[in-house]
Amino acid sequence: MRLGRYRREEAAEPWVGVARGDSVVNVAEAAEAAGIDLPSSTRDLLGVWRWREKLDLVVECAAETGAGEYDADALDRFAPVGSPGKIVCVGLNYADHAEESGGDVPEEPVLFAKYPTAVTGPDSAVEWDPELTGKVDYEAELVAVIGQEACGVDERSAREHVAGYAVGNDVSARDLQFSDEQWTRGKSLDTFAPLGPQLVTADEVADPHDLDIWAEVDGERLQDSSTAKLFFGIDELVAFCSRAFTLEPGDLIYTGTPAGVGAFRDPPRYLEAGDTVTVGVEGLGELTNHCAYR
Ligand code: MN
Repeated sequence: MRLGRYRREEAAEPWVGVARGDSVVNVAEAAEAAGIDLPSSTRDLLGVWRWREKLDLVVECAAETGAGEYDADALDRFAPVGSPGKIVCVGLNYADHAEESGGDVPEEPVLFAKYPTAVTGPDSAVEWDPELTGKVDYEAELVAVIGQEACGVDERSAREHVAGYAVGNDVSARDLQFSDEQWTRGKSLDTFAPLGPQLVTADEVADPHDLDIWAEVDGERLQDSSTAKLFFGIDELVAFCSRAFTLEPGDLIYTGTPAGVGAFRDPPRYLEAGDTVTVGVEGLGELTNHCAYR
């Protein structure tokens, strides 16, 4: 099942919907018609007991009655999770990227944060002030979206806490990232956490550690790898995080990027206004954003 956030009218609040071919089922609307109470925010939905089974019922009902069903072309698309409680990012989690950065993969995952206000979705621009940063870079990443709350879980049960996966772009202002003592500012500019195009539920992803992953700028492929090369996998990351802090429904884990980022190319390839950046993960779709100065 593929969950996205959509809106039909400008200025309205986006709502969570299930994508089905050319149409989208508005979850809250279809649920109401089916006599079930489900929220319109993804984060709230993922906190509902047995949300996945309830969605099956709601979608089945919508297919029969047409309740809450919309033509996908008539909708604006947003990031599948609009306001995550937190965005946890993993640094240097692919050996080839650690190598191009001049180091090794650390013995334990290195975590850093992006602020939730950085989230943006498909069809939106990645924007920045060129007087603030001149070295904006892309990072294609597999993102795990937390479903069930996770506090002190072990690796064997970690996967039960993952609702699904999405494609993420850990956009990075390299000049700010490397001139500051740590990475928060350079990683957290507004629009620097593209996420989408949808959240693909975990039951549809047979093995998150065996997916092609890529990034293209203006159609040129600059990252081309596989999540098989992730050093710390989903289970280890969820367990590792949850020993330190509680993971809550809708929290995002950006799992790290493979080699080929712009900063370490020769010559470097930084993003500029007018560029189109696309990141993709096999089975999860592609996420395209235009770049613009603000
Ligand atoms: Mn990253």
